[in-house]
Amino acid sequence: MSDSLDALKSRLGDVVSLTNIQALVEWDQQTQMPPGAAASKARHVEVLSKLSHEMEVADETGSLIAAAEKEVASATYDSFDASLVRVARRGYDRARKLPTDLVAEMSRVTAMAHEDWVKARQNDDFAAFVPSLTKILELKQREIACKGYKEHPYDALLDNFEIGLTAADVDSMFSELRVELVPLVKAITERADAVDDSPVHQEFPEDKQRAFAEMVVSKYGFDFSRGRQDKSVHPFCTSFSRDDVRITTRFDPNWLNPALFGTFHESGHGMYEQGSDPSLEGTILCGGASLGVHESQSRLWENVIGRSYPFWTHFYPKLQETFPGQLKDVSLDAFYRAINKVEPSFIRVEADEATYNLHIMIRFEVERDVIGGKIAVKDIPEAWNAKSKEYLGIVPPTNALGCLQDIHWSFGGFGYFPTYSIGNLLSVQLYDTAVKAHPAIPEEIADGEFSTLLGWMRSNIHVHGAKYEPKELIMRATGEPMQSRSYMKYLKTKYSAIYGL
Ligand code: ZN
Repeated sequence: MSDSLDALKSRLGDVVSLTNIQALVEWDQQTQMPPGAAASKARHVEVLSKLSHEMEVADETGSLIAAAEKEVASATYDSFDASLVRVARRGYDRARKLPTDLVAEMSRVTAMAHEDWVKARQNDDFAAFVPSLTKILELKQREIACKGYKEHPYDALLDNFEIGLTAADVDSMFSELRVELVPLVKAITERADAVDDSPVHQEFPEDKQRAFAEMVVSKYGFDFSRGRQDKSVHPFCTSFSRDDVRITTRFDPNWLNPALFGTFHESGHGMYEQGSDPSLEGTILCGGASLGVHESQSRLWENVIGRSYPFWTHFYPKLQETFPGQLKDVSLDAFYRAINKVEPSFIRVEADEATYNLHIMIRFEVERDVIGGKIAVKDIPEAWNAKSKEYLGIVPPTNALGCLQDIHWSFGGFGYFPTYSIGNLLSVQLYDTAVKAHPAIPEEIADGEFSTLLGWMRSNIHVHGAKYEPKELIMRATGEPMQSRSYMKYLKTKYSAIYGL
């Protein structure tokens, strides 16, 4: 008998559908919607989030989970049924802590805040974003009060994105990285002249940039019959099903990197979404284990592969054919060095691999202190600039290049940023494990062949969807917990060669 389990699957399937429809509205908001539609879109998002939250936390859902737990008591831990009920229980207990009116208000406020942020960033006007941000932070404090925490209020928000992650965990991860990263960046900066990145700063027509990047990600394995790419202010990936995955990018006609590596990056997220086992489609188990694991996939294809020498031995002649006027006299070696230039810079999404985590440290410390009440909203620019000076040695000349650059606060994503650093560490840890299992992977990459690597990610990470908690998944895939050793070794080896350290 599995009557309750079947009823639970059907009910949660409806919640998933509502969530996916909401994601479609949000995708539209960022890619197609005329600016005048902001208020109506905010209403749509509010209604959808209210409906899905109400269904998710209804007493009936709780009763079905309790009954289904008895029905699957003898099912194996890894089975679809046991996993579904386990994940449903976790989600239910978490969602019940938040009243529906708070969830709906957060959706409405953040939908409006998106437009405020876009305008504030465009006009470099932080003050114009302060009212929205203040409102969002008030709602976040209410959320924290509902959820509770043991040590730091920020822990309640980190847990939204990476189960069980605390401010203390993030602090110790960054302390470990800082010891090696700061001297490495310093040594590289002292040899800044060793790399000339002028080859990537030329005029590159948008249509050709797009065609080349999409050709590469098709070869990676991003399936355009189950996905598409559009333009947005801030690149992202979203999905409405494993068979409908949307990635976005932005183009700079005078700089090759943003759209090229942005597309590689988002395709990594996209392939993870497309790779859930077909049996998980339409269920709460479809999709990724956590943002950190998600980011490991995007950083893998963007950097570990997309900025590697073997990759470009195959693709550089094709890029030269695409942009003969710009690149025919630039050697492979010079191009490889140009795309890997390390330079403290203002914009996180355009940062090189060596300084990237320093950008995250800035955001983590500012967020933690805003949430902890140590920094007032109006003082964020000052605090941001001071941290930027401390970690990157540079102060952004405008807030658009500083604290207004990222979309996250406008959608209430406090606690999100540390998952980027987790993704960096995991990208190398997972790659190294895949190569240990299949030593020919680097040679295959040099032939433009990615199926072994993607296959390993598929069977060890993607197919599981959200069945396992991130710590559990990484342990299963790599045989050890997340560690920074592999990542730091990778960075040191790569940049010692490029900069002759
Ligand atoms: Zn990402």
